[in-house]
Amino acid sequence: MGRGTGRGGRRRRGGIPAVTSKKTSPATIAAQALGWTDPVTRAVVPPIHPSSTFVRDPDNRYSSGRIYARADCPGYDQPEAVLTALEGGAAAALFASGSAAASALFLALDPGDHVVIPPVMYWSLRNWLLTFGTRWGLAVQVVDPTDLDAMAAAVVRGRTRLVWVESPANPLWTISDIGALADIAHAAGARLAVDSTVATPVLTRPLTLGADLVMHSATKYLNGHSDVVAGALVTGTEDGFWQRIKTNRAQMGGILGPFEAWLLLRGLRTLFARVPLACRSAQLLAERLAAHPNVLEVLYPGLPGFPGHETARRQMAGGFGAMLSIRVRGGAAAAIATAARVGLWTRATSLGGVESFIEHRSSIEGPGSPVPPDLLRLSVGLEAVEDLIADLSDALDG
Ligand SMILES: *Cc1c(COP(=O)(O)O)cnc(C)c1O
Repeated sequence: MGRGTGRGGRRRRGGIPAVTSKKTSPATIAAQALGWTDPVTRAVVPPIHPSSTFVRDPDNRYSSGRIYARADCPGYDQPEAVLTALEGGAAAALFASGSAAASALFLALDPGDHVVIPPVMYWSLRNWLLTFGTRWGLAVQVVDPTDLDAMAAAVVRGRTRLVWVESPANPLWTISDIGALADIAHAAGARLAVDSTVATPVLTRPLTLGADLVMHSATKYLNGHSDVVAGALVTGTEDGFWQRIKTNRAQMGGILGPFEAWLLLRGLRTLFARVPLACRSAQLLAERLAAHPNVLEVLYPGLPGFPGHETARRQMAGGFGAMLSIRVRGGAAAAIATAARVGLWTRATSLGGVESFIEHRSSIEGPGSPVPPDLLRLSVGLEAVEDLIADLSDALDG
């Protein structure tokens, strides 16, 4: 397939070289998917290789560098190179889902390692960490990452190996100061990993702010069309921890299929068109909904009164994300009834698609969730924003 170059030619494997340099802007890198072309056919779009295995040379070597698709899927090269470039990292790895990416990272730690996680984060991952993670031997501690003093006190040299944050964090959109948290983690010899699913590399590049690893549920904005479940990790350095993560993927087998990797690459190419548009609509929706009499509160980092607004202004460029939540006057029943009355919005879980989703979040998260029962989570898509505002306002009117 299109084996061109990685970043600026550093990881070239032969074939048609890419045209990117360090100066190429991320929007161009995404639109052209690094400009790789297929060296055999000169195709602009890469082929899909479904092969599970690769031929061994008569002299018993594997000169192609590939042995078996669980470890060596050719369809990963280009999307991983694009993600590496977009995040400003050293390497990336695709996974079968965001959850597979995150669990491969946590399982690269050793039993007994202390990890710090936030109270507000993707609920299923928190649940997995507090059940399986604890059973497996991780010492999981929940600490509020917006309280830097509490964080500095919790992170202990020689004991803490990983600080995990999500920013903006689902579904209250809590903003964490990635640079400050990286300093705290590093002062204790720990790594900082950031779930940047909602920010996307369009708005925030955690590695350039000091984080060590970035995780994405590529199911969301990176693919962007609600038709692939996928995940990704990007690392700032290809160190021993990264090798463990790669080994986990190859040995535990949480791999993405070649067709899904191809769809993900196609989605990535429009990332810089989709995300800014959705962010603009989300900002307008947040401002309009704040004035609706049946909305108690709008949770959105782009609103000046939002607690993390100033940090978000520094850390997010070009928008505050396309996710927001509203609290509906009248409690859980009123929130569920509002979601039942929408016409254009789609009642569904997930986020980051071209279509807008509305979801009563506490019904999904269950016990232990920090989510208020009157909260509706909104994923703003690419529809005309006036249509979205009118439909939701009517539903809120009753
Ligand atoms: C969806 C999501 C995940 C989990 O990803 P999957 O691809 O569904 O496994 C993790 N973090 C965030 C912020 C998400 O939105």
